[in-house]
Amino acid sequence: MDSVTVSGRRCSTNSASDPAAARLRDDFASVSQRGRLFVLSGPSGVGKSTVLAAVRPALPGVWYSVSATTRRPRPGERDGVNYHFVDRPTFDEWVDADLMLEWAEFAGHRYGTPRAAVEERLAAGVDVLLEIEVQGARQVRTAMGEDAVLIFLAPPSYEELARRLVGRGTEDEPTRLARLRAARSELAAEPEFDHTVVNTSVEDAVAALVDLMADPRSA
Ligand code: 5GP
Repeated sequence: MDSVTVSGRRCSTNSASDPAAARLRDDFASVSQRGRLFVLSGPSGVGKSTVLAAVRPALPGVWYSVSATTRRPRPGERDGVNYHFVDRPTFDEWVDADLMLEWAEFAGHRYGTPRAAVEERLAAGVDVLLEIEVQGARQVRTAMGEDAVLIFLAPPSYEELARRLVGRGTEDEPTRLARLRAARSELAAEPEFDHTVVNTSVEDAVAALVDLMADPRSA
């Protein structure tokens, strides 16, 4: 007699005498072994990277994708850790070769998720988290449908977002303006997401995210 756990209930099957039950068990095992794909998105400046950095120690079993970008490294950023920093021809080659799960042009630079590393982890049963902007999140939804869990990190208000974007001082004036312009339409995308987490404080946002990702029903 074999037993499997479905939604917390233990169910018994006698696969030796019931081939249909054995097939069901194998199907269930192969589905449950695949990792879940989580997408954390939201407007630039909302604090996605800060929340992500704080969530990592709380969810050590999750794999965090490293994006490729054509923008230059900021002080302290390291190639292969924060991003794969590449030039535009290389990025475009990867896109043409269909090596990107999704990609987008944002505030004058390209950003994208290398597909192979994500697919490998999911196939190995590891949960994956992408931190990407809104256009990319839409492409993931199109490519993976309901198999991806889309989480929108929202600011308490537009005014607070603008204050954070201007205050962080990592960009020059034209870039800040481009990001502020993008923020309005990014905020309007919230209803397209499965869950919203409001980033009132990093602690609260991290706790909400951990709850969501630790819940096996978030699949
Ligand atoms: P930053 O230049 O501030 O690091 O990132 C700018 C925006 O690009 C952020 O909203 C960030 O979430 C997003 N981003 C980072 N990596 C990716 C990616 O692989 N794909 C997409 N679509 N957006 C990304």
